[in-house]
Amino acid sequence: MADAHKYTVDTSHLDFDPDALWDKYAYERDKRIIKEGFGQYQDIKGDFSHFIDDHYVKAGFTREPIKDEVEVLIIGGGFGGLLTGAHLRDAGVEDIRVIDKAGDFGGTWYWNRYPGAQCDVEAYVYLPLLEEMDYIPKERYSHAPEILKHSINIAKKYNLYDKACFQTEVTEMRWDESIKRWVIKTDRNDEFKAQFVAMSNGLLTRPKLPGIKGIEKFQGHTFHTSRWDYDYTGGSSEGDLKKLTNKRVGIIGTGATAVQCIPHLGEAAQELYVFQRTPSSVDVRNNAPTSPEWVAKLEPGWHRKRMDNFEILLAGGQPKKKKDDKAANKNDDADVDDGWTDVHNSANQILKQRPKLTPEQKKEVRELSDMKKMEEIRRRTEDIVEDRETAEALKAYYWQFCKRPCFHDEYLQTYNLPNVTLVDTQGQGVDEITEKGVVVNGVEYELDCLIFATGFEVGSNYTSQSGYDVVGRDKLSLKDKWKNGLSTFHGLFSKNFPNCFFLGFTQTAVTQSVTHTLDEQAQHLTYVIKHMREHESETVEATQAAEDDWVSIIESHADVLETHFIKCTPGYYNNEGKSGNNNGFLAGQFGGGPQKFFKILKDWRNEGSLKGLELK
Ligand code: NDP
Repeated sequence: MADAHKYTVDTSHLDFDPDALWDKYAYERDKRIIKEGFGQYQDIKGDFSHFIDDHYVKAGFTREPIKDEVEVLIIGGGFGGLLTGAHLRDAGVEDIRVIDKAGDFGGTWYWNRYPGAQCDVEAYVYLPLLEEMDYIPKERYSHAPEILKHSINIAKKYNLYDKACFQTEVTEMRWDESIKRWVIKTDRNDEFKAQFVAMSNGLLTRPKLPGIKGIEKFQGHTFHTSRWDYDYTGGSSEGDLKKLTNKRVGIIGTGATAVQCIPHLGEAAQELYVFQRTPSSVDVRNNAPTSPEWVAKLEPGWHRKRMDNFEILLAGGQPKKKKDDKAANKNDDADVDDGWTDVHNSANQILKQRPKLTPEQKKEVRELSDMKKMEEIRRRTEDIVEDRETAEALKAYYWQFCKRPCFHDEYLQTYNLPNVTLVDTQGQGVDEITEKGVVVNGVEYELDCLIFATGFEVGSNYTSQSGYDVVGRDKLSLKDKWKNGLSTFHGLFSKNFPNCFFLGFTQTAVTQSVTHTLDEQAQHLTYVIKHMREHESETVEATQAAEDDWVSIIESHADVLETHFIKCTPGYYNNEGKSGNNNGFLAGQFGGGPQKFFKILKDWRNEGSLKGLELK
């Protein structure tokens, strides 16, 4: 734990005691540490496999197996796959096949259709290819159907439906040196050959269930939020869950997903019980339709600029502005200014006025800004939630970015409804599940329906996430190669896995707007493929030296992520609070910040010699 009580900057103006808060944060964190870490969760298989059934397609789909060859095979039809397809098409690559186990494009937005699902990052930043698609999101924070539609529109515009194979899971991927092609087999007995494979399996894609005692016994209806059962609840992603009016509903989990669907459950269910282990921080949402006046002022290039602006602010930086005041007042040049950037904006204001602070003091200013923000959020909870005990239990005592920050204007209000009960487990989780319901502190809550809002599997094992192993040159398995941690060059290439590109958080920069990283990765691999076509190269592979260098760069920044997250309340960001963070969501990522990472890639492309890659 970092040193808590040595603020050297003036704290006398604060209306809270930072030392007392440090103690409270540490107390709340420590009581939540579970020795099993990720082991507290269980795999969804066997009797639980119905939890991952796809409700959005008609059952019984069949097709003949396909055996053929394509130039590029993309695994995953979410934004990573779509961006890869789009950039490759722009570069003139015709022969592309996308495979996804879902029934359509959309990735996370295909699966997560729960009521109220919405992107909590500004749509003008998160939705990719806005200028290319000539599309302006309808609202500042898009709801899930709009994002799914945008995904489908990208696929249409870039002809990615050609050759796409849905409801198809990869079972095996093997490099055949004799033909210099990947051979990909699927659960539909396909056998595809491909010169290149882009693996965009997605992050947080496999729903997880807690290993709560008796979980298999529950006799009522049950499902996971990422497979919402509208046949049972009625309604749609917009809410109106009519069929719940005579149902006692329980929901386990109060993360970013639960915060969005609980208002709809509270509105519809006869009784709603929310089983909470750790409260989310829930700040104002303030959503609004997109202003036509704002749109009218946008200039070409605005989208990328806004994406950069968001990440620069979140990394604690100060975006460069045009010099003349008039231009600086233009909307498209304005900072993204919302609950994500608030803490950083206010710290930046203080730091601008006090340029002589030491680096340690600057860190203190940022820490105190975070505490101040979280105090505001806790006071908001107090102001909204009428019952004192409930309000107290809903207050989040940790640093704002220890968990996904949430923003909602109806969530806290839901606890004022007479049919809604918060069952706070004091950080300990649900004790037991019985045939009839859920037990906490010796009280059994009888339920007709139990919903798991318990999130998704996390681990550094990229291949266990994807569900298949990748066998490269000399029969080397990726699972074996990466068993002690990721090893890549620039996150995209790994030696002995020629012509294979890894997308997602694979020794890359972690962005809060994930599509930004995916876009950069897609552009980068497109550059490489384009270069290879121009130079008639057949294979590309990282050199050992380049990979070793990149791994050392990653290691040299590791303590940045480690120091920040280890003081956090347990969660998937920090390996459930276990020290060493070498297996958490952020394990092995580039700690130097997104802009620096993107610049490394850009400079490398501009240099032009493809240093670190061996082309044949
Ligand atoms: P999370 O992993 O964030 O939340 C899981 C919840 O389940 C937590 O509240 C957790 O408590 C709780 N839980 C787990 N086990 C138990 C137990 N035994 N008893 C009681 N409670 C338990 O999953 P989400 O689906 O909410 O979110 C996953 C991610 O998806 C987010 O972090 C975000 O990245 C993304 N997301 C993004 C959105 C967007 O707008 N772009 C919207 C929604 C989700 P505890 O905190 O104590 O572990």
